[in-house]
Amino acid sequence: MIDLAIVGAGPAGMAAALEVAEAGFSVLVVDEQARAGGQIFRRPPAEWGIRHGDYRPYPWAQGLIERFEDHPRIEALFRATAFGMLRDAPEVGSGLQLAVHSAQGGRLVAARRLLIATGAHDMPVAFPGWTLPGVMTAGAVQSLLKSQKLLAGQRLVLAGSHPILLILAAQLLDAGARIAEIAFARGLPRLAEMVGALPAVPGHVALFADAARALRKILAHGVRLSRHTVVTGAEGGEALSGVRLQKVDGDWAPKGEARLVAADVLALGYGFHPSTELARQAGCNLHWHSAAGGWLVSHDDAFRTSAEGIFVAGEPTGIAGAERAWAEGRVAGLAIAASLGAKPSAARQVEAARMLARAGRFSRVVQAMFAPNRTALAALSLPEETIICRCELVRSGQLDAVLANNPFILSASAAKLECRSGMGLCQGRYCEATVAARIAAARRAPIEASGRFSAHLPVKPVPLQSYCDLRRGEE
Ligand SMILES: Cc1cc2nc3c(=O)[nH]c(=O)nc-3n(C[C@H](O)[C@H](O)[C@H](O)COP(=O)(O)OP(=O)(O)OC[C@H]3O[C@@H](n4cnc5c(N)ncnc54)[C@H](O)[C@@H]3O)c2cc1C
Repeated sequence: MIDLAIVGAGPAGMAAALEVAEAGFSVLVVDEQARAGGQIFRRPPAEWGIRHGDYRPYPWAQGLIERFEDHPRIEALFRATAFGMLRDAPEVGSGLQLAVHSAQGGRLVAARRLLIATGAHDMPVAFPGWTLPGVMTAGAVQSLLKSQKLLAGQRLVLAGSHPILLILAAQLLDAGARIAEIAFARGLPRLAEMVGALPAVPGHVALFADAARALRKILAHGVRLSRHTVVTGAEGGEALSGVRLQKVDGDWAPKGEARLVAADVLALGYGFHPSTELARQAGCNLHWHSAAGGWLVSHDDAFRTSAEGIFVAGEPTGIAGAERAWAEGRVAGLAIAASLGAKPSAARQVEAARMLARAGRFSRVVQAMFAPNRTALAALSLPEETIICRCELVRSGQLDAVLANNPFILSASAAKLECRSGMGLCQGRYCEATVAARIAAARRAPIEASGRFSAHLPVKPVPLQSYCDLRRGEE
Protein backbone atom coordinates (compact mmCIF):
# COMPACT_ATOMS: atom_id res chain seq x y z
CA MET A 1 0.00 0.00 0.00
CA ILE A 2 1.23 3.46 -0.92
CA ASP A 3 1.68 5.97 1.94
CA LEU A 4 0.25 8.94 0.06
CA ALA A 5 -1.73 9.20 -3.17
CA ILE A 6 -1.92 12.70 -4.67
CA VAL A 7 -4.29 13.81 -7.40
CA GLY A 8 -2.69 16.70 -9.29
CA ALA A 9 0.93 17.45 -10.19
CA GLY A 10 0.64 21.24 -10.10
CA PRO A 11 2.62 23.41 -7.66
CA ALA A 12 0.51 22.17 -4.70
CA GLY A 13 0.79 18.47 -5.52
CA MET A 14 4.51 18.60 -6.34
CA ALA A 15 5.38 20.53 -3.17
CA ALA A 16 3.42 18.13 -0.95
CA ALA A 17 4.90 15.08 -2.69
CA LEU A 18 8.43 16.32 -1.99
CA GLU A 19 7.78 16.98 1.71
CA VAL A 20 6.29 13.52 2.22
CA ALA A 21 8.90 11.69 0.10
CA GLU A 22 11.76 13.48 1.86
CA ALA A 23 10.34 12.29 5.19
CA GLY A 24 10.87 8.73 3.92
CA PHE A 25 7.37 7.76 2.68
CA SER A 26 6.18 6.45 -0.68
CA VAL A 27 4.14 8.77 -2.88
CA LEU A 28 2.08 8.16 -6.01
CA VAL A 29 0.95 11.19 -8.01
CA VAL A 30 -1.80 10.92 -10.62
CA ASP A 31 -2.36 13.62 -13.25
CA GLU A 32 -4.34 13.86 -16.48
CA GLN A 33 -1.63 15.87 -18.16
CA ALA A 34 1.40 14.38 -19.90
CA ARG A 35 3.94 16.03 -17.58
CA ALA A 36 4.29 17.62 -14.17
CA GLY A 37 3.60 21.34 -13.77
CA GLY A 38 -0.16 21.72 -13.50
CA GLN A 39 -2.18 24.34 -15.36
CA ILE A 40 0.21 27.17 -14.77
CA PHE A 41 3.41 25.49 -16.01
CA ARG A 42 1.95 23.54 -18.91
CA ARG A 43 4.96 22.16 -20.74
CA PRO A 44 5.48 20.97 -24.29
CA PRO A 45 5.30 17.17 -24.69
CA ALA A 46 8.40 15.20 -23.63
CA GLU A 47 8.60 13.88 -27.24
CA TRP A 48 9.69 17.37 -28.35
CA GLY A 49 12.88 16.91 -26.37
CA ILE A 50 12.46 20.13 -24.39
CA ARG A 51 12.58 19.69 -20.62
CA HIS A 52 11.35 23.12 -19.56
CA GLY A 53 8.93 25.78 -20.76
CA ASP A 54 8.83 29.48 -19.93
CA TYR A 55 7.93 29.75 -16.21
CA ARG A 56 8.08 33.54 -15.92
CA PRO A 57 7.42 35.14 -13.38
CA TYR A 58 7.98 32.13 -11.09
CA PRO A 59 11.77 31.60 -10.72
CA TRP A 60 11.22 28.68 -8.29
CA ALA A 61 9.26 26.58 -10.80
CA GLN A 62 12.17 24.90 -12.59
CA GLY A 63 13.79 23.71 -9.34
CA LEU A 64 10.47 22.40 -8.01
CA ILE A 65 9.77 20.43 -11.19
CA GLU A 66 13.29 18.97 -11.33
CA ARG A 67 13.31 17.89 -7.68
CA PHE A 68 9.86 16.34 -8.14
CA GLU A 69 10.79 14.47 -11.32
CA ASP A 70 14.11 13.21 -9.96
CA HIS A 71 12.94 12.04 -6.52
CA PRO A 72 13.33 8.25 -6.14
CA ARG A 73 10.38 7.86 -3.76
CA ILE A 74 7.87 9.69 -5.98
CA GLU A 75 6.10 7.63 -8.62
CA ALA A 76 4.12 9.66 -11.14
CA LEU A 77 1.30 8.36 -13.31
CA PHE A 78 0.58 10.81 -16.12
CA ARG A 79 -2.23 10.81 -18.71
CA ALA A 80 -4.28 9.19 -15.94
CA THR A 81 -7.60 10.30 -14.47
CA ALA A 82 -8.63 9.85 -10.84
CA PHE A 83 -12.35 9.22 -11.20
CA GLY A 84 -13.49 8.43 -7.70
CA MET A 85 -12.69 7.57 -4.14
CA LEU A 86 -13.85 4.40 -2.44
CA ARG A 87 -13.54 3.33 1.16
CA ASP A 88 -12.64 -0.26 1.82
CA ALA A 89 -13.21 -2.08 5.09
CA PRO A 90 -11.52 -0.04 7.85
CA GLU A 91 -9.28 -2.97 8.80
CA VAL A 92 -7.42 -2.52 5.46
CA GLY A 93 -5.21 0.43 6.51
CA SER A 94 -7.03 3.75 6.23
CA GLY A 95 -9.52 2.17 3.85
CA LEU A 96 -8.86 4.80 1.18
CA GLN A 97 -8.93 3.56 -2.41
CA LEU A 98 -8.47 5.85 -5.37
CA ALA A 99 -10.07 4.77 -8.66
CA VAL A 100 -7.69 5.58 -11.52
CA HIS A 101 -8.08 5.27 -15.29
CA SER A 102 -5.04 5.19 -17.58
CA ALA A 103 -4.05 3.63 -20.91
CA GLN A 104 -3.69 0.34 -19.01
CA GLY A 105 -7.35 0.47 -17.93
CA GLY A 106 -8.85 0.98 -14.49
CA ARG A 107 -7.27 0.21 -11.13
CA LEU A 108 -7.76 0.87 -7.45
CA VAL A 109 -4.86 2.43 -5.57
CA ALA A 110 -4.93 1.76 -1.84
CA ALA A 111 -3.31 4.58 0.13
CA ARG A 112 -2.87 5.53 3.77
CA ARG A 113 -3.53 9.19 2.95
CA LEU A 114 -5.00 11.05 -0.01
CA LEU A 115 -4.20 14.62 -1.06
CA ILE A 116 -6.61 16.41 -3.37
CA ALA A 117 -4.56 18.96 -5.34
CA THR A 118 -6.80 19.08 -8.39
CA GLY A 119 -6.43 22.78 -9.20
CA ALA A 120 -9.09 24.77 -11.00
CA HIS A 121 -10.87 25.19 -14.31
CA ASP A 122 -11.99 28.32 -16.14
CA MET A 123 -15.27 29.85 -15.01
CA PRO A 124 -17.82 29.29 -17.76
CA VAL A 125 -20.34 32.01 -18.65
CA ALA A 126 -23.43 31.33 -20.77
CA PHE A 127 -24.78 33.89 -23.29
CA PRO A 128 -26.34 33.57 -26.74
CA GLY A 129 -23.85 31.82 -29.02
CA TRP A 130 -21.33 30.75 -26.34
CA THR A 131 -21.26 27.18 -27.62
CA LEU A 132 -20.17 28.16 -31.17
CA PRO A 133 -16.81 26.73 -32.27
CA GLY A 134 -14.29 29.52 -31.73
CA VAL A 135 -15.68 30.59 -28.36
CA MET A 136 -13.08 29.38 -25.87
CA THR A 137 -11.91 30.06 -22.37
CA ALA A 138 -8.75 32.08 -21.77
CA GLY A 139 -7.17 29.06 -20.09
CA ALA A 140 -7.81 26.87 -23.12
CA VAL A 141 -6.30 29.41 -25.52
CA GLN A 142 -3.30 29.69 -23.20
CA SER A 143 -2.93 25.91 -22.86
CA LEU A 144 -2.77 25.51 -26.65
CA LEU A 145 -0.09 28.17 -26.79
CA LYS A 146 2.00 26.87 -23.88
CA SER A 147 1.88 23.15 -24.52
CA GLN A 148 1.45 22.94 -28.30
CA LYS A 149 2.80 26.33 -29.45
CA LEU A 150 -0.45 26.81 -31.37
CA LEU A 151 -2.44 30.02 -31.93
CA ALA A 152 -6.15 29.30 -31.47
CA GLY A 153 -7.12 31.72 -34.29
CA GLN A 154 -6.19 34.56 -36.60
CA ARG A 155 -8.15 37.43 -35.05
CA LEU A 156 -9.00 37.23 -31.37
CA VAL A 157 -11.24 39.12 -28.95
CA LEU A 158 -10.44 38.68 -25.26
CA ALA A 159 -13.22 39.43 -22.79
CA GLY A 160 -13.87 39.04 -19.08
CA SER A 161 -12.81 40.51 -15.78
CA HIS A 162 -9.75 38.53 -14.66
CA PRO A 163 -6.13 39.74 -14.95
CA ILE A 164 -5.24 36.50 -16.79
CA LEU A 165 -6.54 38.35 -19.88
CA LEU A 166 -3.59 40.76 -19.77
CA ILE A 167 -1.05 37.96 -19.32
CA LEU A 168 -2.68 35.94 -22.11
CA ALA A 169 -2.79 38.95 -24.44
CA ALA A 170 0.95 39.54 -23.99
CA GLN A 171 1.69 35.84 -24.60
CA LEU A 172 -0.46 35.89 -27.75
CA LEU A 173 1.23 39.06 -29.04
CA ASP A 174 4.66 37.50 -28.38
CA ALA A 175 3.52 34.58 -30.54
CA GLY A 176 2.43 36.89 -33.37
CA ALA A 177 -1.35 36.86 -32.84
CA ARG A 178 -3.67 39.68 -33.92
CA ILE A 179 -5.92 40.85 -31.08
CA ALA A 180 -8.92 42.88 -32.20
CA GLU A 181 -9.96 44.03 -28.72
CA ILE A 182 -9.71 43.30 -25.01
CA ALA A 183 -13.00 43.99 -23.22
CA PHE A 184 -13.00 44.31 -19.44
CA ALA A 185 -16.27 44.17 -17.51
CA ARG A 186 -14.89 46.35 -14.76
CA GLY A 187 -13.17 49.75 -14.77
CA LEU A 188 -9.68 50.73 -13.68
CA PRO A 189 -8.90 49.99 -10.02
CA ARG A 190 -10.07 52.85 -7.76
CA LEU A 191 -7.58 54.73 -5.57
CA ALA A 192 -8.88 52.98 -2.44
CA GLU A 193 -8.37 49.60 -4.11
CA MET A 194 -4.82 50.51 -5.09
CA VAL A 195 -4.00 51.60 -1.55
CA GLY A 196 -5.58 48.36 -0.28
CA ALA A 197 -3.30 46.42 -2.65
CA LEU A 198 -0.06 47.77 -1.15
CA PRO A 199 0.38 44.95 1.43
CA ALA A 200 0.54 42.52 -1.50
CA VAL A 201 3.63 44.14 -3.04
CA PRO A 202 6.47 42.87 -0.77
CA GLY A 203 7.72 39.55 -2.13
CA HIS A 204 5.65 39.85 -5.31
CA VAL A 205 7.47 42.52 -7.26
CA ALA A 206 8.11 40.05 -10.11
CA LEU A 207 4.36 39.38 -10.49
CA PHE A 208 3.52 43.09 -10.61
CA ALA A 209 6.41 43.69 -13.03
CA ASP A 210 5.08 40.91 -15.28
CA ALA A 211 1.61 42.49 -15.32
CA ALA A 212 3.15 45.90 -16.12
CA ARG A 213 5.20 44.34 -18.93
CA ALA A 214 2.03 42.77 -20.34
CA LEU A 215 0.17 46.08 -20.26
CA ARG A 216 3.07 47.87 -21.95
CA LYS A 217 3.12 45.30 -24.72
CA ILE A 218 -0.63 45.58 -25.28
CA LEU A 219 -0.44 49.37 -25.49
CA ALA A 220 2.64 49.26 -27.75
CA HIS A 221 0.72 47.04 -30.20
CA GLY A 222 -2.17 49.51 -30.22
CA VAL A 223 -4.68 46.87 -29.09
CA ARG A 224 -8.05 48.40 -28.20
CA LEU A 225 -8.71 48.03 -24.44
CA SER A 226 -12.35 48.68 -23.51
CA ARG A 227 -13.55 49.09 -19.94
CA HIS A 228 -17.08 48.53 -18.58
CA THR A 229 -17.75 46.26 -21.56
CA VAL A 230 -19.06 42.68 -21.69
CA VAL A 231 -19.80 40.11 -24.37
CA THR A 232 -23.56 39.76 -24.78
CA GLY A 233 -23.51 37.45 -27.79
CA ALA A 234 -21.38 35.42 -30.19
CA GLU A 235 -22.42 35.23 -33.84
CA GLY A 236 -21.62 32.96 -36.74
CA GLY A 237 -22.90 30.04 -38.83
CA GLU A 238 -20.71 26.96 -38.50
CA ALA A 239 -18.23 28.85 -36.32
CA LEU A 240 -17.66 32.21 -34.67
CA SER A 241 -17.48 35.22 -36.98
CA GLY A 242 -18.29 38.12 -34.67
CA VAL A 243 -18.61 39.10 -31.03
CA ARG A 244 -21.32 41.44 -29.71
CA LEU A 245 -19.81 43.81 -27.15
CA GLN A 246 -21.91 46.12 -25.02
CA LYS A 247 -21.21 48.82 -22.43
CA VAL A 248 -22.30 48.02 -18.86
CA ASP A 249 -23.03 50.12 -15.80
CA GLY A 250 -21.26 49.73 -12.45
CA ASP A 251 -23.33 46.59 -11.72
CA TRP A 252 -22.36 45.04 -15.06
CA ALA A 253 -25.89 45.50 -16.47
CA PRO A 254 -25.75 46.09 -20.26
CA LYS A 255 -26.84 49.52 -21.48
CA GLY A 256 -27.12 51.13 -24.93
CA GLU A 257 -26.55 49.37 -28.23
CA ALA A 258 -24.24 46.39 -28.77
CA ARG A 259 -21.52 46.64 -31.42
CA LEU A 260 -20.23 43.73 -33.50
CA VAL A 261 -16.49 43.03 -33.63
CA ALA A 262 -15.23 40.54 -36.22
CA ALA A 263 -13.27 37.65 -34.70
CA ASP A 264 -12.63 33.95 -35.22
CA VAL A 265 -11.76 33.31 -31.57
CA LEU A 266 -13.31 34.74 -28.44
CA ALA A 267 -11.32 34.01 -25.27
CA LEU A 268 -13.35 34.39 -22.07
CA GLY A 269 -11.55 35.10 -18.81
CA TYR A 270 -13.92 35.78 -15.91
CA GLY A 271 -11.85 33.79 -13.41
CA PHE A 272 -11.63 30.21 -12.18
CA HIS A 273 -13.65 27.64 -10.28
CA PRO A 274 -11.89 25.16 -7.99
CA SER A 275 -12.00 21.56 -9.25
CA THR A 276 -13.86 20.03 -6.33
CA GLU A 277 -15.58 17.04 -7.95
CA LEU A 278 -13.35 14.45 -6.27
CA ALA A 279 -13.66 16.17 -2.88
CA ARG A 280 -17.45 16.27 -3.25
CA GLN A 281 -17.64 12.59 -4.16
CA ALA A 282 -15.32 11.70 -1.27
CA GLY A 283 -17.71 13.42 1.14
CA CYS A 284 -15.53 16.39 2.14
CA ASN A 285 -17.38 19.44 3.51
CA LEU A 286 -17.45 22.48 1.26
CA HIS A 287 -18.23 26.14 1.92
CA TRP A 288 -19.12 29.13 -0.26
CA HIS A 289 -16.78 32.07 -0.96
CA SER A 290 -17.74 33.84 -4.16
CA ALA A 291 -14.59 35.95 -4.63
CA ALA A 292 -12.34 32.93 -4.01
CA GLY A 293 -14.04 30.85 -6.71
CA GLY A 294 -17.42 29.70 -5.33
CA TRP A 295 -17.54 26.32 -3.58
CA LEU A 296 -14.29 25.59 -1.72
CA VAL A 297 -13.11 22.52 0.18
CA SER A 298 -13.14 23.22 3.94
CA HIS A 299 -10.00 22.35 5.92
CA ASP A 300 -8.18 22.99 9.18
CA ASP A 301 -4.80 24.70 9.64
CA ALA A 302 -3.03 21.48 8.59
CA PHE A 303 -5.16 21.25 5.37
CA ARG A 304 -7.04 18.22 6.70
CA THR A 305 -10.55 17.97 5.23
CA SER A 306 -13.61 16.74 7.12
CA ALA A 307 -13.15 13.26 5.54
CA GLU A 308 -10.84 10.91 7.44
CA GLY A 309 -7.36 10.60 5.89
CA ILE A 310 -8.04 13.14 3.12
CA PHE A 311 -6.09 16.40 2.80
CA VAL A 312 -6.46 19.26 0.30
CA ALA A 313 -4.08 21.91 -1.08
CA GLY A 314 -3.96 24.48 -3.87
CA GLU A 315 -6.89 25.93 -5.78
CA PRO A 316 -9.61 23.65 -4.31
CA THR A 317 -9.17 25.65 -1.07
CA GLY A 318 -9.74 28.92 -2.97
CA ILE A 319 -8.37 30.47 -6.16
CA ALA A 320 -5.19 32.03 -4.90
CA GLY A 321 -2.45 31.61 -7.51
CA ALA A 322 0.57 29.40 -8.02
CA GLU A 323 2.66 30.74 -5.16
CA ARG A 324 -0.07 30.15 -2.60
CA ALA A 325 -0.68 26.66 -4.06
CA TRP A 326 3.03 25.86 -3.66
CA ALA A 327 2.99 27.08 -0.05
CA GLU A 328 -0.20 25.16 0.78
CA GLY A 329 1.32 22.02 -0.71
CA ARG A 330 4.35 22.36 1.56
CA VAL A 331 2.25 22.89 4.70
CA ALA A 332 -0.10 20.02 3.80
CA GLY A 333 2.87 17.77 2.97
CA LEU A 334 4.51 18.41 6.34
CA ALA A 335 1.20 17.70 8.10
CA ILE A 336 0.68 14.48 6.14
CA ALA A 337 4.21 13.31 6.93
CA ALA A 338 3.56 14.00 10.63
CA SER A 339 0.27 12.10 10.48
CA LEU A 340 2.18 9.13 9.02
CA GLY A 341 4.61 9.19 11.93
CA ALA A 342 7.44 11.52 10.83
CA LYS A 343 8.99 13.88 13.33
CA PRO A 344 8.29 17.36 11.94
CA SER A 345 11.23 19.71 11.34
CA ALA A 346 10.44 22.96 13.14
CA ALA A 347 12.57 24.97 10.70
CA ARG A 348 10.69 23.62 7.67
CA GLN A 349 7.35 24.29 9.32
CA VAL A 350 8.28 27.89 10.13
CA GLU A 351 9.53 28.48 6.58
CA ALA A 352 6.38 26.97 5.02
CA ALA A 353 4.10 28.98 7.31
CA ARG A 354 5.94 32.17 6.36
CA MET A 355 5.54 31.38 2.64
CA LEU A 356 1.85 30.71 3.19
CA ALA A 357 1.24 34.02 4.95
CA ARG A 358 3.14 36.00 2.29
CA ALA A 359 1.30 34.34 -0.60
CA GLY A 360 -2.01 34.83 1.20
CA ARG A 361 -1.52 38.62 1.30
CA PHE A 362 -1.20 38.69 -2.48
CA SER A 363 -4.09 36.35 -3.25
CA ARG A 364 -6.55 38.14 -0.96
CA VAL A 365 -5.92 41.41 -2.80
CA VAL A 366 -6.36 39.81 -6.24
CA GLN A 367 -9.55 38.03 -5.14
CA ALA A 368 -11.10 41.21 -3.73
CA MET A 369 -10.16 43.32 -6.75
CA PHE A 370 -11.30 40.96 -9.48
CA ALA A 371 -14.32 39.19 -7.96
CA PRO A 372 -16.85 38.30 -10.68
CA ASN A 373 -20.38 39.71 -10.52
CA ARG A 374 -22.10 36.32 -10.71
CA THR A 375 -25.66 37.65 -10.77
CA ALA A 376 -24.94 39.95 -13.72
CA LEU A 377 -23.10 37.21 -15.62
CA ALA A 378 -25.97 34.74 -15.16
CA ALA A 379 -28.40 37.38 -16.47
CA LEU A 380 -26.56 37.23 -19.82
CA SER A 381 -28.08 33.76 -20.27
CA LEU A 382 -31.69 35.00 -19.96
CA PRO A 383 -32.72 34.97 -23.68
CA GLU A 384 -34.99 31.94 -24.08
CA GLU A 385 -32.92 30.06 -26.69
CA THR A 386 -29.58 30.38 -24.85
CA ILE A 387 -28.06 27.00 -24.09
CA ILE A 388 -27.50 26.64 -20.35
CA CYS A 389 -26.27 23.03 -20.18
CA ARG A 390 -24.24 22.25 -23.29
CA CYS A 391 -23.95 18.51 -22.56
CA GLU A 392 -27.70 17.89 -22.29
CA LEU A 393 -28.74 20.84 -24.53
CA VAL A 394 -30.95 22.43 -21.89
CA ARG A 395 -32.02 25.94 -22.90
CA SER A 396 -32.78 28.98 -20.79
CA GLY A 397 -36.53 28.80 -21.54
CA GLN A 398 -36.66 25.20 -20.23
CA LEU A 399 -35.04 26.22 -16.95
CA ASP A 400 -37.49 29.13 -16.61
CA ALA A 401 -40.42 26.76 -17.21
CA VAL A 402 -39.15 24.30 -14.61
CA LEU A 403 -38.81 27.07 -12.04
CA ALA A 404 -42.24 28.54 -12.88
CA ASN A 405 -44.00 25.16 -12.76
CA ASN A 406 -42.26 23.97 -9.59
CA PRO A 407 -42.28 26.79 -7.03
CA PHE A 408 -40.67 24.50 -4.44
CA ILE A 409 -37.52 23.94 -6.49
CA LEU A 410 -34.92 25.93 -4.56
CA SER A 411 -31.69 24.08 -5.28
CA ALA A 412 -29.44 23.36 -8.26
CA SER A 413 -29.67 19.62 -7.56
CA ALA A 414 -33.50 19.72 -7.64
CA ALA A 415 -33.45 21.61 -10.95
CA LYS A 416 -31.00 19.02 -12.31
CA LEU A 417 -33.45 16.19 -11.58
CA GLU A 418 -36.24 18.07 -13.34
CA CYS A 419 -34.47 19.33 -16.51
CA ARG A 420 -31.22 17.27 -16.73
CA SER A 421 -28.87 20.29 -16.56
CA GLY A 422 -25.62 18.96 -15.07
CA MET A 423 -26.28 15.31 -15.91
CA GLY A 424 -23.99 15.15 -18.93
CA LEU A 425 -20.34 14.40 -19.52
CA CYS A 426 -18.99 17.43 -17.66
CA GLN A 427 -21.18 16.64 -14.62
CA GLY A 428 -22.14 20.29 -14.20
CA ARG A 429 -18.73 21.95 -14.39
CA TYR A 430 -20.07 24.16 -17.21
CA CYS A 431 -23.59 24.89 -15.99
CA GLU A 432 -23.68 24.71 -12.19
CA ALA A 433 -22.81 28.38 -11.65
CA THR A 434 -25.40 29.60 -14.17
CA VAL A 435 -28.16 27.31 -12.89
CA ALA A 436 -27.48 28.25 -9.25
CA ALA A 437 -27.42 31.99 -9.96
CA ARG A 438 -30.59 31.79 -12.07
CA ILE A 439 -32.43 29.93 -9.26
CA ALA A 440 -31.17 32.48 -6.74
CA ALA A 441 -32.45 35.35 -8.90
CA ALA A 442 -35.83 33.68 -9.41
CA ARG A 443 -36.27 32.92 -5.70
CA ARG A 444 -34.70 36.20 -4.52
CA ALA A 445 -32.15 34.29 -2.45
CA PRO A 446 -28.34 34.42 -2.20
CA ILE A 447 -26.55 32.22 -4.76
CA GLU A 448 -25.14 29.87 -2.14
CA ALA A 449 -28.70 29.03 -1.04
CA SER A 450 -29.07 27.17 -4.37
CA GLY A 451 -26.42 24.71 -3.19
CA ARG A 452 -24.37 22.65 -5.62
CA PHE A 453 -24.64 19.52 -7.70
CA SER A 454 -23.62 16.36 -5.88
CA ALA A 455 -20.82 14.29 -7.43
CA HIS A 456 -20.89 10.55 -8.05
CA LEU A 457 -18.38 7.99 -9.23
CA PRO A 458 -17.15 8.33 -11.97
CA VAL A 459 -16.55 12.07 -11.39
CA LYS A 460 -14.99 12.37 -14.85
CA PRO A 461 -15.84 10.45 -18.02
CA VAL A 462 -13.85 7.20 -18.36
CA PRO A 463 -14.38 4.14 -20.57
CA LEU A 464 -16.84 1.63 -19.12
CA GLN A 465 -14.04 -0.94 -19.26
CA SER A 466 -12.03 0.99 -16.66
CA TYR A 467 -15.06 0.99 -14.41
CA CYS A 468 -15.40 -2.79 -14.83
CA ASP A 469 -11.66 -3.27 -14.17
CA LEU A 470 -12.18 -2.01 -10.60
CA ARG A 471 -14.44 -4.98 -9.95
CA ARG A 472 -11.92 -7.37 -11.48
CA GLY A 473 -9.25 -6.05 -9.07
CA GLU A 474 -11.44 -7.16 -6.16
CA GLU A 475 -11.73 -10.76 -7.36
C1 LIG B 1 -6.33 26.69 -17.83
C2 LIG B 1 -5.71 27.49 -16.73
C3 LIG B 1 -4.72 28.45 -17.00
C4 LIG B 1 -4.14 29.19 -15.97
N1 LIG B 1 -3.19 30.15 -16.27
C5 LIG B 1 -2.69 30.91 -15.29
C6 LIG B 1 -1.74 31.96 -15.57
O1 LIG B 1 -1.36 32.19 -16.70
N2 LIG B 1 -1.26 32.70 -14.55
C7 LIG B 1 -1.65 32.45 -13.25
O2 LIG B 1 -1.17 33.13 -12.34
N3 LIG B 1 -2.54 31.48 -12.96
C8 LIG B 1 -3.07 30.72 -13.94
N4 LIG B 1 -3.99 29.76 -13.64
C9 LIG B 1 -4.29 29.50 -12.24
C10 LIG B 1 -3.30 28.41 -11.85
O3 LIG B 1 -3.84 27.18 -12.23
C11 LIG B 1 -2.97 28.29 -10.42
O4 LIG B 1 -2.59 29.47 -9.86
C12 LIG B 1 -1.94 27.19 -10.08
O5 LIG B 1 -1.60 26.39 -11.16
C13 LIG B 1 -2.57 26.37 -9.00
O6 LIG B 1 -1.79 25.27 -8.71
P1 LIG B 1 -2.47 23.93 -8.20
O7 LIG B 1 -1.35 23.02 -7.85
O8 LIG B 1 -3.47 24.23 -7.15
O9 LIG B 1 -3.30 23.37 -9.42
P2 LIG B 1 -2.95 23.10 -10.94
O10 LIG B 1 -1.68 23.72 -11.35
O11 LIG B 1 -4.17 23.43 -11.69
O12 LIG B 1 -2.74 21.52 -10.97
C14 LIG B 1 -3.80 20.64 -10.79
C15 LIG B 1 -3.54 19.40 -11.60
O13 LIG B 1 -4.53 18.42 -11.24
C16 LIG B 1 -4.83 17.65 -12.39
N5 LIG B 1 -6.15 17.04 -12.16
C17 LIG B 1 -7.31 17.65 -11.80
N6 LIG B 1 -8.29 16.75 -11.62
C18 LIG B 1 -7.74 15.54 -11.89
C19 LIG B 1 -8.24 14.21 -11.89
N7 LIG B 1 -9.50 13.94 -11.54
N8 LIG B 1 -7.41 13.20 -12.23
C20 LIG B 1 -6.10 13.45 -12.57
N9 LIG B 1 -5.57 14.69 -12.59
C21 LIG B 1 -6.38 15.72 -12.25
C22 LIG B 1 -4.78 18.64 -13.53
O14 LIG B 1 -4.49 17.98 -14.76
C23 LIG B 1 -3.66 19.59 -13.11
O15 LIG B 1 -2.43 19.27 -13.72
C24 LIG B 1 -4.57 28.99 -14.66
C25 LIG B 1 -5.56 28.04 -14.38
C26 LIG B 1 -6.14 27.32 -15.40
C27 LIG B 1 -7.24 26.33 -15.06
